[in-house]
Amino acid sequence: MTNSLKIAMASLAPAGRSVQSEMLGRGARSDAGRASSFLALRARMLASPCLAGALQFMQVTTRPWEPHELAAWLLEHVVAPGWMRAPRALREPGVETLELSGIDGRHREVAALTARARERVALALLDFVAPNPDGDFLRAALYSARVRWSVVDGRSTWLPAPREMDRLSDVVLSLFAAEILSDAELYRSHMTVCAGCGRVAFTQETRPLSAGCPRCDGEVRWRAR
Ligand SMILES: [Zn+2]
Repeated sequence: MTNSLKIAMASLAPAGRSVQSEMLGRGARSDAGRASSFLALRARMLASPCLAGALQFMQVTTRPWEPHELAAWLLEHVVAPGWMRAPRALREPGVETLELSGIDGRHREVAALTARARERVALALLDFVAPNPDGDFLRAALYSARVRWSVVDGRSTWLPAPREMDRLSDVVLSLFAAEILSDAELYRSHMTVCAGCGRVAFTQETRPLSAGCPRCDGEVRWRAR
């Protein structure tokens, strides 16, 4: 196991007793601490191409996606940043595999493929915010090398490294994994996921302002309880 992989795996371990007792005893981090980590998260939302791509996928696929939208998303958020070359085909278990060059006009099939991918990504993110997460998607991204450790602008960080044969959901999850591994505590503290529709949002408060999802009124889940 490489050193970077060891460090990443250690960061996935459950919080130590001191951290847990602090969270239980005081409800959560201090308001000032949460405000500053939320600011750091906002900065990442503006600066991180992986986070932008991952969030856009989850935001826009709440409705059926058109073929040109999927092709544009791949080009802008996966191919252009250099995470991988354009795949020949797009796949997801249980739905038809589609040749990228032939997706024009395949409206129903593209909608089915992106919906299935979104469902799997949402399940992985719901696990990440669960009280006792399995951490499977982060482990899978690490062990299957869908993320790589690199130095960008003098700072070590994780970058997505999906492969052309990967499922579309694994491509999206590689963006989330690189981002979360780069600062897992930030996401543990602020990320919320809707159990109904998979909406991903971030909250500065120790709990979301509303118990119901603003989009579907489903149950909003988050880690910092
Ligand atoms: Zn929802």
